[in-house]
Amino acid sequence: MIKVAKFGGSSVASAEQFRKVKSIIQADPDRRFVVVSAAGKRFSDDNKITDLLLLANAHIQYHVDSQPLLSQIEQRFVEVAKSLDLKYPVAEKFEEFSSVVTSLSPEYIVSRGEFFTGQLMAEYLGLPFVDASDTIVFHHDGTVDFERTAIRVKEAAQRNPRGFVLPGFYGCTVDGTVKLFQRGGGDITGAVLARCLEANVYENWTDVPGFLSADPHIVDMPRAIHRITFDEMRELSYMGATVLQEDSIFPVREANIPIQIKDTNSPDRKGTTIRETAEEREVEHLITGIAGRKDFTAVHIQKTHMSDKVGVVRSALSVFERYGVSIEHLPTGVDSFGIVVNSADVKDKIYPIITDLRREVAPDDITVTDKLALISIVGRNLRRRPGSSGLIFGVLGKAGINIRLITQSSQEISIIVGVDNDDFERAIRVMYDGFAAHEKV
Ligand code: ASP
Repeated sequence: MIKVAKFGGSSVASAEQFRKVKSIIQADPDRRFVVVSAAGKRFSDDNKITDLLLLANAHIQYHVDSQPLLSQIEQRFVEVAKSLDLKYPVAEKFEEFSSVVTSLSPEYIVSRGEFFTGQLMAEYLGLPFVDASDTIVFHHDGTVDFERTAIRVKEAAQRNPRGFVLPGFYGCTVDGTVKLFQRGGGDITGAVLARCLEANVYENWTDVPGFLSADPHIVDMPRAIHRITFDEMRELSYMGATVLQEDSIFPVREANIPIQIKDTNSPDRKGTTIRETAEEREVEHLITGIAGRKDFTAVHIQKTHMSDKVGVVRSALSVFERYGVSIEHLPTGVDSFGIVVNSADVKDKIYPIITDLRREVAPDDITVTDKLALISIVGRNLRRRPGSSGLIFGVLGKAGINIRLITQSSQEISIIVGVDNDDFERAIRVMYDGFAAHEKV
């Protein structure tokens, strides 16, 4: 059995967190391949090493002395090394790096957060350090070269059959230029490693106990989600419930490797398992979760006898395409349809878009509604159970919340309702309570 265990920034933020990581690794001999982020925040107004390195880059760019900032970063590493009695000469190595920092690329500088965290973790766990620069290969366009990466990962695993520590977030092109993933990209490194090793599971250790069925700032003590499918997770993450870096899903999903989200601070908690299909024997909740976002704009287009004409919707969509605006939803009626977009995407373009729509679609009427919130009620079981939409209409009606639009995803794993921004939190609460009460019956 092979488990890839990836630890996020807060899980490696201090010597105390390093100790937790060690006991997690020691608790299971299958956890041999470890990926680390750069040390993150130790407390809420602390700084992440990656943010400090980005700031150091900005200093360099504007010719401000970056050395005080770099010493602050060095101190964080020295503290960990000292408390854990590590031999790795982190101060010396870090100073070598800072003495030439102005000649280094921004990507290289930022990658040192994971590099030094990885060096310390490797020694502390008694595992070899494998540099991501030699292992994770990027194409020049910033995407992963899976073919080369898989070869290098397999070679590294053969050389180090007991396992290794790999720093996340960066890699190299074939000509040796350091490249980074997007922020939070240590999750992607973990997923790439899991895929190349054909791991049985990709464990993602973080500081939350997995996915919750609603935002705890809105709903009091929402139920934890123990199992979720990739599709459901995409829907929930897209609507705001993010735990994982989105792009980290694809490498493991394609290889059918489940992801397990676990909490470094309470490793005994079950966490959330994300897999392609849900198992039959699990407890069937009607909904998996509710998530939403505010600030959408809906453009409603009314055109009599539109249903008899071909190409009306296409001509409207091509206007949005021309302005580079991505469409979120497209609720349609017989003689009308709506185009729902992110308000931020049309902020400076809405008037020219309307002018073009008038000219090219020749509608009877166009209205624009903004300050809309979209809420997605997600659940693989929705398609099997009648009455879900009824429940939504019922609880929202009873609470006096006006539904501005409703659509269902084509695979029927989610129902999306649009309400006014001002009703957003209340709508989530009443729907959550409505479904929760339904389950107790
Ligand atoms: N250290 C990087 C960041 O803060 C990557 C990661 O933590 O996954 O974004």
